[in-house]
Amino acid sequence: MLAYVYEDEGKFSLSEKEKPHITDEKDAVVKVTLGSICTSDLHIKHGSVPRAVKGITVGHEMVGIVEETGSAVKKFKKGDRVAVNVETFCGECFFCKNGFVNNCEYPDGGWAIGCRIDGGQAEFVRVPLADNGLSKIPDEVTDEQALFTGDILATGFWAAKISEIKRQDTVLIIGAGPTGICTLASVLLKEPEKVIVCEKDEERRKYVNKYYPYVLTVKPEDVLDFTRKNTKHGGADVVIECAGTKETFKLSWQAARANAIVTIVALYNEAQILPLPDMYGKNLTFKTGGVDGCDCDEILSLIAQKKIDTTPLITHTFPLKDIEKAYEIFEGRKDGVIKVAIRP
Ligand SMILES: [Zn+2]
Ligand SMILES: [Zn+2]
Repeated sequence: MLAYVYEDEGKFSLSEKEKPHITDEKDAVVKVTLGSICTSDLHIKHGSVPRAVKGITVGHEMVGIVEETGSAVKKFKKGDRVAVNVETFCGECFFCKNGFVNNCEYPDGGWAIGCRIDGGQAEFVRVPLADNGLSKIPDEVTDEQALFTGDILATGFWAAKISEIKRQDTVLIIGAGPTGICTLASVLLKEPEKVIVCEKDEERRKYVNKYYPYVLTVKPEDVLDFTRKNTKHGGADVVIECAGTKETFKLSWQAARANAIVTIVALYNEAQILPLPDMYGKNLTFKTGGVDGCDCDEILSLIAQKKIDTTPLITHTFPLKDIEKAYEIFEGRKDGVIKVAIRP
């Protein structure tokens, strides 16, 4: 089968690989019907994910049809339409029992698929601990609607969940990339009084204005002033940072009011500095990244109820054989791209 492989730092290539098979009784093999490219794939390509293993197939956001299941898989059978979770988790260790599935102690726990074991930019993918790693897609939900469930939507949903958003709050989201938009969609479910999205790219601000017309948008250079003017207590009650640059990290705590919650979702390419003397007395609570993807069934149910719709994020679709071209557009941010879907 065709698979897109992490060869070496800076190099992915389309290769012919053996179709995966069941290696453990809890495995399932899924025929991928739609996958996507994620910014984290680019992080692997450029060597900023040290855990990533050379030779693996990349891709960790996909939906498909169950092809085969191990004898201990209880919830799924051949033919089921499923979304694959970016995280592998046992459901039984201390961390899993507390909902921290990202920190699962199972050897392949956490982000394994498309990082430490073969992923889904391929025709088939093996999913370990399939009863936890798969979610059934409701019949009325399309592949396109369900595509982001296991990764960026899970991330946005988790970010909104841990940010302790209250009805009277103003929430500032920094970054309107794919994860920022998924975070926005999830934050709106909490019905805060006001939501502000800070984004430097005009096209992406326009995207927010088009699909979420009641959300305020602002450029990074204006965000501190704008947030002060549009909030009651000198800053945002909750800030969620999804952009991942040195500047946006700084803005995230600067735009927060005293005693605010600052949730850091972004993955940075370098260490960030918390200048504690400058923020002394602001008494901020920081929550830091690494999605706990344990709400995928709920996310799919919200999609089925039309409460979340992220399909407009898919601006391009390419067949797997043209994945090089898809990466070129995604990585180069060409042609108004937001997300690229890959059809094997
Ligand atoms: Zn990802
Ligand atoms: Zn676990």
